[in-house]
Amino acid sequence: MSKIVIALGGNALGNDSLEQMEKVKIAAKAIADLVQDGHEILISHGNGPQVGMIKKAFDECEKQNITPNMPFPECIAMSQGYIGFHLQAAIETELFARKITDRPVSTLVTRIVVDANDPAFLKPTKPIGSYYDEQTAIKLMQETGDFYGEDAGRGFRRMIASPMPVDIMEKETVELLLQNKRVVIACGGGGIPVTEKNGLMVGIDAVVDKDFAASHMAKLIDADMLIILTAVDNAFLNYQKENETVISQATVSEAKKYCEEGHFAPGSMLPKVMASYMFTENGKNKHAIITSLERAADALKGECGTTVVA
Ligand code: ADP
Ligand code: MG
Repeated sequence: MSKIVIALGGNALGNDSLEQMEKVKIAAKAIADLVQDGHEILISHGNGPQVGMIKKAFDECEKQNITPNMPFPECIAMSQGYIGFHLQAAIETELFARKITDRPVSTLVTRIVVDANDPAFLKPTKPIGSYYDEQTAIKLMQETGDFYGEDAGRGFRRMIASPMPVDIMEKETVELLLQNKRVVIACGGGGIPVTEKNGLMVGIDAVVDKDFAASHMAKLIDADMLIILTAVDNAFLNYQKENETVISQATVSEAKKYCEEGHFAPGSMLPKVMASYMFTENGKNKHAIITSLERAADALKGECGTTVVA
């Protein structure tokens, strides 16, 4: 029996509520297979489209004086609840269908501690919320002091920082739930970033990469395995070039070297490979696997996927 942290990528969730409810059924099958084998399971997930949708809806209503402003950390909290609700229901349904009734599924609103002095705050890179034209963006920038930048030629958006995780406030609660046979959904969307202010932990406008958050959680709870489920069966060297090759297994130092050589796109595969070695460098018997949702079971048997070991 192993303690496993699973990071679910965007393709496991879809783009709207109805699509999400259908898509999570696929993830639920893969997760139920692991629960059935007796493993302790913690699931974390992305929230890009979901938190974008929530923030945009509140931004639009605020513009029309329908609702007051909704801060970004609160939007992350809403996305954790909404995605957890769907995942929880789908996993429970799948477990009941297999007559597994002693593994309840819980979603935990999770806060992730970041350092307000993280250099990422000097250069915000993650676009969030509505699109604006340049003049409006400049006006908003002067009024609020927030950063705005161009998002891939589609218009101007607010840019927020993506700092590294320092701690996870719910780590002990997660351990208690796992020890009590709960399947836990936590650290959704990379967690709600918080930082200390006058002795209190308060929300801060930032996004922690969900792969780094899952890796940090795996480290804190001393998991045996980190499984990053995404849209590809494995990571490649020379991705989409003529000499593209599958990476089946890499040591921490090999993985670091591949990252330095620029084989992985920043913001997509790069954080996954980095998250993998940041977890496995904590212990000799720790494994990280990058693979697709569909092939998770095969990857655990060693038939596919990219495994990173110490
Ligand atoms: P997720 O939503 O699961 O976090 P991302 O889209 O952020 O997924 O990252 C996965 C994507 O990274 C793959 O679908 C692939 O297009 C891209 N990618 C970039 N570089 C590589 C690489 N070297 N090997 C495999 N996939 C890569
Ligand atoms: Mg991603």
